[in-house]
Amino acid sequence: HLDRIAAVDGEINAFLHVAGEQALSAAKSVDDAIGSGQAPASALAGVPLALKDVFTTTDMPTTCGSKILDGWVSPYDATLTTKLREAGIPVLGKTNMDEFAMGSSTENSAYGPTRNPWDTTRIPGGSGGGSAAALASNQAPLAIGTDTGGSIRQPAAVTATVGTKPTYGTVSRFGLVACASSLDQGGPCGRSVLDTALLHEVIAGHDPRDSTSVNAPVRPVVEAARHGASGDLKGVRVGVVKELHSESYQPGVIASFDAAVAQLTELGAEVVEVSCPNFLHALAAYYLILPSEVSSNLARFDAMRYGMRVDDGNMSADQVMAATRAAGFGKEVKRRIMIGTYALSSGYYDAYYGSALKVRTLIARDFDKAYESVDVLVSPTSPFTPWKLGEKVNDPLAMYLSDLCTLPTNLAGHCAMSVPSGLSADDGLPVGLQIMAPAMADERLYRVGAAYE
Ligand code: GLN
Repeated sequence: HLDRIAAVDGEINAFLHVAGEQALSAAKSVDDAIGSGQAPASALAGVPLALKDVFTTTDMPTTCGSKILDGWVSPYDATLTTKLREAGIPVLGKTNMDEFAMGSSTENSAYGPTRNPWDTTRIPGGSGGGSAAALASNQAPLAIGTDTGGSIRQPAAVTATVGTKPTYGTVSRFGLVACASSLDQGGPCGRSVLDTALLHEVIAGHDPRDSTSVNAPVRPVVEAARHGASGDLKGVRVGVVKELHSESYQPGVIASFDAAVAQLTELGAEVVEVSCPNFLHALAAYYLILPSEVSSNLARFDAMRYGMRVDDGNMSADQVMAATRAAGFGKEVKRRIMIGTYALSSGYYDAYYGSALKVRTLIARDFDKAYESVDVLVSPTSPFTPWKLGEKVNDPLAMYLSDLCTLPTNLAGHCAMSVPSGLSADDGLPVGLQIMAPAMADERLYRVGAAYE
């Protein structure tokens, strides 16, 4: 894999940092342990992985795709990083991402965009475009992403790979640099549903160092993936969300989705249409809640504690802070900090942030009602196949529209997966099928996903 990275990543730009020596030494420890008769640390021991550059690592930099953290090395490992190490999974390096996980194309990275291996003039999705492109170009067999509004699932969809956003609270956020804390969730990415399930079980689990961590056993996702692989979905009730099937989506995406639904029916699933009317307001609510949390979380980058510092020697502390943030943050991050600060300000709080929280509750109720009659919900993962680099960079609203189908799951704290759903008939580019399930029912995603793939 290191050879493959050396050969192709000059063009793809999936990695911000490659840690060849550390990866080889981790691989050697696995070989040595097995050579001396010990059982491997996990089913994935020795299988290398690409880690999104938003999880802290003591032996390589963590930049979050931002200039403000250029070269910064964390004094501690994220819980997820520790779990990878303990499972004997060598980390090949850290992958490119939209700055602080804000974006849908990886073009908001301060280190240049990642290119989609299917067509290098196109975006690999975002914010986790680096992880998805590393998988799709065979630079890594496994990867880690984070999903705050779709950043695992949409990149998976547009690169024809698999990605899961686990139930909120089931993968520790300790050492995951925060974007929007009530939405952020780390998750597994792979090229097959079973690979993804094996990684899911490695990274999930209760962590007392994360106050929102769920104290419950890890869901049996590997068993569910194996069960699903038999291809039998008899007795599984699947709901097609009416509001996530629109004429405004790309025709090839809708055609691929309709074919996927037909295939699920053939596999024995009972498919019905369900209505979740408040999903239509998810985008508006998300783009108030997320910036509000961002404006608060990113206040920690004050030029004193981490990374970059702009100071000509004659500046006051306030001026150093302002100059550093002006130089260190990119355009999209600044836009969201301003929107969030406005939405949280006294006088506007109730009208904007307060209303968005009410919509969030209504979306959770739509889900609850739907899950009274079905086991999983399905939709396209994204309304579009990968677009041309540069096409939407000057139109944030057009960029936000690509998150339409993924946002409701994050707002409700539930789980969802994207699996490849063939190539679009209109442009020959990858399309993803999104499978959604209630909180703490992640195994349903894997059963249906493995049967479908
Ligand atoms: N594209 C969404 C955004 O820009 C999702 C980001 C994410 O999941 N980290 O906010």
